[in-house]
Amino acid sequence: MDIERKVVWTIKKYSLMKKTDKVVVALSGGKDSTSVLYILKKLGYNVEGLMIDLYLGEWSEIHRRNMERFCLENEVPLTVVDLKKEIGQGICFVKAVLAKKKGLTGCTVCGVIKKWVLNRWARKLKADVIVTGHNLDDEAQNVLMNYLKGNVELGIGMGPATGHGKVEGFIQRVKPLFFVPEGEVRKYAQEKNFDILYDRCPCALGTYRVDTRGWMRENMTDEAKRDVVDGFMARSAGIRDKNLDVREIMKCEVCGEVCRGKVCKFCEIVRCV
Ligand code: AMP
Ligand code: ZN
Repeated sequence: MDIERKVVWTIKKYSLMKKTDKVVVALSGGKDSTSVLYILKKLGYNVEGLMIDLYLGEWSEIHRRNMERFCLENEVPLTVVDLKKEIGQGICFVKAVLAKKKGLTGCTVCGVIKKWVLNRWARKLKADVIVTGHNLDDEAQNVLMNYLKGNVELGIGMGPATGHGKVEGFIQRVKPLFFVPEGEVRKYAQEKNFDILYDRCPCALGTYRVDTRGWMRENMTDEAKRDVVDGFMARSAGIRDKNLDVREIMKCEVCGEVCRGKVCKFCEIVRCV
């Protein structure tokens, strides 16, 4: 199955979105989010781009210019959110402080901040869904990393549609490239001649994810990645239905965003910067 057909299949099988939905695509500027935006537009979905300027120096500037051009060429509205206006700092500063104060390293901080900003802005844009460019490799890495860290339960509930589902104020996040291996996305983007950067995030150096990715590239075929993800999803579905998400969904006492517990992860980490 080619990548476009896989996207159609995934959307249908997991009911990810409807043609009448307002679909906001979270754009990093990389090959995955650019490709998924292109494919959804081609399939006739009502798409818009949403990009967070993280202030990662020249890297962010180039990605931003690329997405401005790409969206203009493809007649897709684009909103760029300035992280300094949102939280007062660029991502590097936040990460540096958290590494020192809380020993938080890797991509966790970035992930928490991105989700928080994306949900707020997608809501402002009146989106029905947020699309991210996560691919099969990302998902297989998550399964392996959670397993190796002894946190298997973290992955329970994973799938092409994530998050809290239908909860007021929370915009469902969906991943149409969930079953597409990274190599196939790269090939697609190159064949389409997307004028974008193919480098990896300059922050993600020496992280656990990078090591896992390197190991996976050497040791796993695309079929094996699919087996890992399918196997995990099948086994965890029953567990999720029985036990998971018994924690109440609440509103964060500090920022008012949807979360589980009194204070959301974003406020927990950003408050101490
Ligand atoms: P990453 O966390 O960099 O692996 O990115 C995973 C997905 O998150 C991407 O495919 C995008 O959909 C989204 N994303 C990453 N960075 C940004 C950003 N700066 N602005 C908006 N969305 C982003
Ligand atoms: Zn909060």
